[in-house]
Amino acid sequence: MKLNQNGLLIVLSGPSGVGKGTVRKALFESEGHNFTYSISMTTRSPRVGEVEGSDYYFVSKEEFEQRIKDGKFLEYAEFVGNYYGTPIDKVEQNIEEGREVVLEIEVEGARQVKQKKPDAVFIFIAPPSFEALHDRLRRRGTEKAEVIKERLDKARRELMLINDYDYIVINDDVNNAADRIRAIIRAEHARTKRSAEGYIELLEESNHDNTK
Ligand code: 5GP
Repeated sequence: MKLNQNGLLIVLSGPSGVGKGTVRKALFESEGHNFTYSISMTTRSPRVGEVEGSDYYFVSKEEFEQRIKDGKFLEYAEFVGNYYGTPIDKVEQNIEEGREVVLEIEVEGARQVKQKKPDAVFIFIAPPSFEALHDRLRRRGTEKAEVIKERLDKARRELMLINDYDYIVINDDVNNAADRIRAIIRAEHARTKRSAEGYIELLEESNHDNTK
């Protein structure tokens, strides 16, 4: 039984190459889940195999900047020469309709979400080691050597921000990491700050029914 019918806003963050996308996909394979992924907008070019409207909405720099001016992002950031942002339109509606909305974003964007939505759950996905991160970025083979170096330098800085998050999940194994996130979400739903009001209403209703 769920006391608060609203979904959670779940921010998955962590350095590029840590496997956030893979962990998120494993999470979405849970049975009977009610997760919805917030598809970001970016000015980066699509990688081979990436699909418009499923991996990202790919737009020009001009279009992105116009949307910034129009206040259409919950958050946005520049990452290694490109813009990335979370379109605001669907996020609130999904939460109110009881879905868990998952954002997969870098740390600057997560910081902005924390200011606007302090009730969100902030999960930092961390690599088991720095070498593991380097290996993964190299093996992915989608970026040139200098871009990999930039992403690794950025990762070093991002790892320093771990204390801004509510939880750390080490991605030593994708399924283990997804399991830990499921446990976090269950626990978060039970927190009194989210559920006490619903519980008290429920008690009052049953009390009212009994005294009829
Ligand atoms: P990639 O180019 O590897 O797809 O993404 C680069 C970084 O941008 C990753 O850390 C990814 O999580 C992050 N990112 C993706 N979408 C968003 C977004 O909407 N906002 C922010 N702030 N970061 C994002």
